[in-house]
Amino acid sequence: MKAIVVGSGAGGAMAASELARRGFEVTILEAGDPFRPLTRKVSWLSPLRGTFLLDDEDAIEHFFPHYQVTRTGEDLVIFTGVAEGGSTVISCGNMVRAENGLKEIGLDLTQEFAEIEQTLTIAPTPRERWRPLTKQMFDKAKELGFSPKPTPKVRTHAKCTECGYCELGCATGAKWDSRRVYADLLDKGIALQTGHRVKKVIVEGHRVKGVLVAHKLSTERIDAEVVVLSAGGVGTAQILWASGLPAGDSLWVDVVLTVGGVAKGARMLNEPPMVWYSKRDHYILSPYFDLLSYWFHKPWRSIRTEDRAGMMIKLADSENGRVNADGTVVKSLTDLDKKRLEEAKAEAKEIMEASGVTGPFIDGMIHGGHLGGTVPLTREDVETMHPAWLPKDLWVADLSLMPRSQGLPTMLTAAALALRVAKRIAQEKLPGKV
Ligand SMILES: Cc1cc2nc3c(=O)[nH]c(=O)nc-3n(C[C@H](O)[C@H](O)[C@H](O)COP(=O)(O)OP(=O)(O)OC[C@H]3O[C@@H](n4cnc5c(N)ncnc54)[C@H](O)[C@@H]3O)c2cc1C
Repeated sequence: MKAIVVGSGAGGAMAASELARRGFEVTILEAGDPFRPLTRKVSWLSPLRGTFLLDDEDAIEHFFPHYQVTRTGEDLVIFTGVAEGGSTVISCGNMVRAENGLKEIGLDLTQEFAEIEQTLTIAPTPRERWRPLTKQMFDKAKELGFSPKPTPKVRTHAKCTECGYCELGCATGAKWDSRRVYADLLDKGIALQTGHRVKKVIVEGHRVKGVLVAHKLSTERIDAEVVVLSAGGVGTAQILWASGLPAGDSLWVDVVLTVGGVAKGARMLNEPPMVWYSKRDHYILSPYFDLLSYWFHKPWRSIRTEDRAGMMIKLADSENGRVNADGTVVKSLTDLDKKRLEEAKAEAKEIMEASGVTGPFIDGMIHGGHLGGTVPLTREDVETMHPAWLPKDLWVADLSLMPRSQGLPTMLTAAALALRVAKRIAQEKLPGKV
């Protein structure tokens, strides 16, 4: 039986490989190109820092074409990875179970989390590989009652050279990304077509028949018995709208803001990002250099690389964003988001000051890269994992399904949701084989 999976990120990779293992003939249609780490561009980029060429976030896509940068409002931009591997190839490699909102709808993903985790090597970066300032901030955060913990990372630590460029792609292959999930199945159940952007799904008589896909200058129809949308919180919603189907105005992005300070010779870039984190009620705090603010955020220009210290806030934001059929996104911070960010900033500053970091403390670029909530699951959907309003044989398997923001890393959750969806598809379409 033929299945199309749209997107090869955390959700798509998992859905495709599970369906192929269960006997489907799977084609992954991926809008992006094959991914190459972008670190080779960095040496010639540094001298341009502080010039008009790197003035603001618009320049990011120019220098790092696998990044899609979308301004969603006056106070927010969002980032997506558009390449084979989706946003996982530009991730920091953090891997935790993010489950906010699942209990409320009666969805328990324990089994799927465990199944995925047992295929991966997940461990914190050893403390001896942290920079001295990061150790100091961990110890001070502990003394101050923030209960910090080393961050679980999905990487081979022996291969990591501490280049600090995880978000540009890993040059040594130390960091996991979703391409590994289906690598063994390529041409053995899975066909991958990169550079293929799905424009819409074809629905006839409330049943999906295939997709319309653009490749270079041509557009073609590809038929399949099952279509799975795993194009991420924005991509999936865009395809639904373009197909005449509604998506929810409930996009969340997990807002990130790094408070930048100064610590002479800290060299925070020479360690993996976010090696520890402190979980608060609505956000996490985590040491972070913030590469993109360092290059593309004007107010950060004056501080030298080796002296820049940073503490990231990752906030579980309000689920209030809207995606349009043309891919534009409308999303701003609410008053509640702003209030929580202010509380978080005060805590970040407290830990940094206690660790000897001095001002000026300047906010980095406010952005979000965990895009979810546009096809939010409800209690009624959990048994089938198929929102009732979707046409038959059209499924969603990515972070779009997650109803609530997390303020936590989300790759594992996107993959676990997709795994559950793929199991349900197989139960429905190939019952004898399950
Ligand atoms: C800079 C950054 C760092 C991050 N770091 C971490 C981290 O350390 N740990 C963590 O757990 N999470 C991290 N995340 C978040 C995590 O990567 C995402 O939440 C997760 O990958 C979401 O999975 P997904 O399948 O929903 O979407 P994605 O992984 O984004 O995959 C969507 C895929 O669909 C493709 N696509 C989109 N539209 C179309 C179309 N029309 N046709 C065909 N293909 C299409 C895209 O190219 C992409 O490949 C990070 C995100 C960013 C942006």
